[in-house]
Amino acid sequence: NSKQRLQKLIANAGVTSRRKAEDLITAGRVRVNGKVIRELGSKFTPHDLIEVDGLPIERDPKIYILFYKPRGVITAVSDDKKRPVVTDYFKDIINARIYPVGRLDYDTSGLLILTNDGDLTNRLLHPSHQVDKVYVAKLQGLVESKALEKLRHGVVVHHKKTAPAKTEILTRDPKRQISIVRITIHEGMNHQVKEMFHTVGYDVLKLKREQVSFLNLAGLTSGEWRFLNQKEIITLK
Ligand code: URA
Repeated sequence: NSKQRLQKLIANAGVTSRRKAEDLITAGRVRVNGKVIRELGSKFTPHDLIEVDGLPIERDPKIYILFYKPRGVITAVSDDKKRPVVTDYFKDIINARIYPVGRLDYDTSGLLILTNDGDLTNRLLHPSHQVDKVYVAKLQGLVESKALEKLRHGVVVHHKKTAPAKTEILTRDPKRQISIVRITIHEGMNHQVKEMFHTVGYDVLKLKREQVSFLNLAGLTSGEWRFLNQKEIITLK
């Protein structure tokens, strides 16, 4: 069952270390459901009301992670075919149950936010929020400006017209017959970028998300992550 030692519950809430939590308990500063508990071995669940110096502990401290998702990793918390999933990277490090905000395809790399803040997740995913997402796509063939102009006006994907995208050609390589295009969208339809390029005649060979809102991957390499800082969290909200 989900019963845990009192000192662990206090430490998990981010109040203090487990060692210091033990001191708080033996000092009689901890109440559970209104009763002072001094016994270090006592076990409770996260549903019990735990107070330190009369203040309830934060039951579910909010965690915000910026992750550079590698290719070949599923954006999910588990996979029935046992393929690697994004939360594997936080097992044994992050105690809280964190979830990816939106989804990157298995073969797409780049910026992914993970959090246990459901309100933020909903707001970021809601189309009205209009968070810019910047992708870099490697395309088969030499991209024509006419095709990109269509994307800038909007194309039909999954029976819906996409909002105007911003596009920028980074490379057009006649020798290798590939192009690299930066594209900015703010919707999140399934496989949206691949589908958009498909409708104008190009296969996406490789896709990476460089940016979400004002957040980018600076300082991280594939598979690495960092916590968002307080200022970033406030700005994102
Ligand atoms: N668009 C796609 O096609 N794939 C992604 O992973 C993200 C956006």
